[in-house]
Amino acid sequence: MDYDDIIEQVRESVARISAEFPGEYWRNKDRKQEYPAEFVQALTDAGLLACLIPEEFGGSGLPLRVAAEIVQTIHQNGGNAAACHAQMYTMGTLLRHGSAEQKSRYLPAIASGELRLQAFGVTEPTAGTDTTSISTTAVRDGDRYIVNGQKVWISRAEYSDLMILLARTTSKEKASKRTKGLSVFIVDINEAKKYGMVIRPIRTMLNHATTEIFFENVPVPAENLIGNEGDGFSYILSGMNAERILIAAECIGDANWFIDKATRYACERKVFGRPIGQNQGIQFPIARAYAQTQAATLMVQKAVDLYDRGQDCGAEANMAKMLASEASWAAADMCMQTHGGFGLAEEYDIERKFRETRLYQIAPISTNLILAYLGEHRLGLPRSY
Ligand SMILES: Cc1cc2nc3c(=O)[nH]c(=O)nc-3n(C[C@H](O)[C@H](O)[C@H](O)COP(=O)(O)OP(=O)(O)OC[C@H]3O[C@@H](n4cnc5c(N)ncnc54)[C@H](O)[C@@H]3O)c2cc1C
Repeated sequence: MDYDDIIEQVRESVARISAEFPGEYWRNKDRKQEYPAEFVQALTDAGLLACLIPEEFGGSGLPLRVAAEIVQTIHQNGGNAAACHAQMYTMGTLLRHGSAEQKSRYLPAIASGELRLQAFGVTEPTAGTDTTSISTTAVRDGDRYIVNGQKVWISRAEYSDLMILLARTTSKEKASKRTKGLSVFIVDINEAKKYGMVIRPIRTMLNHATTEIFFENVPVPAENLIGNEGDGFSYILSGMNAERILIAAECIGDANWFIDKATRYACERKVFGRPIGQNQGIQFPIARAYAQTQAATLMVQKAVDLYDRGQDCGAEANMAKMLASEASWAAADMCMQTHGGFGLAEEYDIERKFRETRLYQIAPISTNLILAYLGEHRLGLPRSY
């Protein structure tokens, strides 16, 4: 099927919604570190966050390239999809590995916006990137599991009804492999809060609604286990390619926003009696950022194509995310330099987007770990960690 028409419609629809949420909206939210609930609601109402949910469960059943277009357009228009992008890819864990009962119970409610699945609980303070070393445990007790431990950097948990949680059900020492003994649960956040789950916001240099979460003897019904006990790590991994590709698309959107903003300013701003863009010292960095972004865009498209054809895209998804996040950061730096002092003024939105786009070289996976993945899995070099 040719999705070009759908992509065009989606682009227009997102651009229309984005126009209702201009820079001033994002600046206010940023200043107060407030969740952009109205923007997320508008996307939900337009059915955009349910684009990847199959039609039989109330979504639109569209391929990842449409989702990538949605988040890229949000960023290209000066907004930030981080408030809601997880809803797109997190449900993939449930869709691919959940039982028929779990899917029919949750997916239609997620598609309609009745339930928000925005939280993804993997990272822990001591384990960091070394996910198999997490120490949050889920111990079976009759028809429930009892969860104890701590998570960090769990974004949007305060604005989500459900969370996909990774916990150890068998200790690393007793598991057959370090990647075994980890299990995935769907946690009803409001229910868990009644039984000792505490969410604490973390203030960060960008408005990201991220939190730390403490579990003390929190019961989770056994029926909320997704797939097989002990196989959760592979379920989480299977969703990561979609996550990386969508983040890469957001970075491309950011980079295009910075390039457009810098180009217009370089033509308008006159110093020494001529537009600053006439100086190669200003023009060439803009052209370089453009070339870098075009190259990264090709890798994002390649990763999306492989993903939508159901082919292995681990290396391409990682490269897309790395190259796009580097392109957006280079474009951010160039845009700020092009604007001189005005680049630092809040009302230009550059310093806000500069802070926002910096995140993507660290989360959801840092650049070093991508390079380690490529070295080992693509190039056959010895595992370095
Ligand atoms: C704003 C924000 C939102 C986030 N949202 C979520 C979320 O919703 N859910 C969730 O589960 N997590 C989330 N994260 C966590 C994010 O995925 C991690 O921060 C990221 O994976 C890096 O882990 P870390 O911060 O523990 O860094 P560490 O693992 O402590 O690493 C620190 C640095 O050392 C480098 N490093 C570590 N080991 C090696 C090695 N062997 N070789 C080379 N370099 C190495 C890393 O690349 C990194 O640069 C979020 C993080 C942030 C900052």
